[in-house]
Amino acid sequence: MKDSNFLKENNARHMWHPMAHPADSMANPPAIITGGEGVHIVDVDGHRTIDAVGGLWNVNLGYSCKAVKEAVTAQMDALPYYSTFRGTSNDKAIELSYLLQDFFAPDGLTRSFFTSGGSDSVEVALKLARQYHRIRGEGTRTKFISLEKGYHGTHFGGASVNGNSKFRNSYEPLLAGCYHIPGPYLYRNPFGITEPEALAQQSAAMLEREIGFQGANTVAAFIMEPVLGAGGVVPPHPTFMKLVREICDKHGVLLIADEVITAFGRTGDETGSRHWGVQPDFMCTAKAITNGYFPFGALMIHGRVAEVFEGSKGEGSVDSGYTYSGHPVGAAAAVAAVEETMRIKPWENAATLGPKLRAGLQDLARRHDIVGDVRGEGLMCAIEFVTDRKTKAPATGAAPLAFQKAAYEDGVMVRVSGNNAIFSPPLVIDQSHVDKILSATETGLNAMV
Ligand code: PLP
Repeated sequence: MKDSNFLKENNARHMWHPMAHPADSMANPPAIITGGEGVHIVDVDGHRTIDAVGGLWNVNLGYSCKAVKEAVTAQMDALPYYSTFRGTSNDKAIELSYLLQDFFAPDGLTRSFFTSGGSDSVEVALKLARQYHRIRGEGTRTKFISLEKGYHGTHFGGASVNGNSKFRNSYEPLLAGCYHIPGPYLYRNPFGITEPEALAQQSAAMLEREIGFQGANTVAAFIMEPVLGAGGVVPPHPTFMKLVREICDKHGVLLIADEVITAFGRTGDETGSRHWGVQPDFMCTAKAITNGYFPFGALMIHGRVAEVFEGSKGEGSVDSGYTYSGHPVGAAAAVAAVEETMRIKPWENAATLGPKLRAGLQDLARRHDIVGDVRGEGLMCAIEFVTDRKTKAPATGAAPLAFQKAAYEDGVMVRVSGNNAIFSPPLVIDQSHVDKILSATETGLNAMV
């Protein structure tokens, strides 16, 4: 490893950090992480913290997952690369597709299309949704509807359905024919609704209204995260996704579940869709599929949708793919991570400890006026900062950053996004880690005043 002075001097000099202003990265240097063990990370100065971000919502099994590390090393030796484009395949990609159809069978998702990450999975889902309708003679169905505050990655299609203008404005014009509806965000919603189930019904009604307004025969798909993640961890009422499924079915609109964060246990169930009792037509996955150790993704396809492609003539040809679709090292990492996930069932721990973490955060909120809202599902939680609880004016800028810095110095890495602090720790944490996350959160809150 280069010495710490070299790393600090060059941290942001030649590397543009994603989702950051280059000048800001120079002025406020990002933390330089050089080690990881269990649920802890270590920075360049040797400071050790619990990683309450879980990498970037992806290191579900922590940093010491031997099975994945060994699988990657062995695969590098056996076959470091071979393509799965028409005419060739590789053994690990085949093995992974077999394993995934087993894992996702209760979701009805029996086919996979491999990608290099979450944005790729979203992009190909949008394309295949249009193609599905074309094959069936409904080529007019080209539009997409999504939720305000939804996050669907950074490619042009994903950015177009993104529900936060911050990620769209610099890159417009984006894909035409993308429309957004207000999601079931209880703390702030345009309807003034304060009862979760009523809000779920209202948001679902907005979807049906938008489909009707656009003309159902022009709408290809509705895309949603089962729990909004990057938009501030917004769990809907348990009825919401079922209502969405019913509306989509009624109007022939496909349902794409963007489970890049929620698949593999984070919500307290194997997948977010299963958590809400819904089978989507497509499911976008990535992140924890390799426990974050290798860039890889899988678009999962429902059997009934797959059969339309498989039973078609030339129009069902998947004319889309990535050099790294089914990368053997990524596939080996995914086989090991998914097998380990199936073995230890980390969603059970998420279902037990998530409510405890939230209860602790709610307790802190009672004592700290700057916390306007506490939300979460399983082991994905957020606290929302406000300057005034009555007006709900968001607290942005220096205060959340002071929170993050103080919590970090006290031993816990938390991610601040806008006026939210987001917690998505590895799913293998225990009660002592929850206690530490809560005490460092209190340190952070004290530093804000
Ligand atoms: N979809 C969702 C729901 C995500 O949270 C993300 C990333 O955080 C993406 C898509 C994009 O994934 P990636 O960053 O791997 O391209």
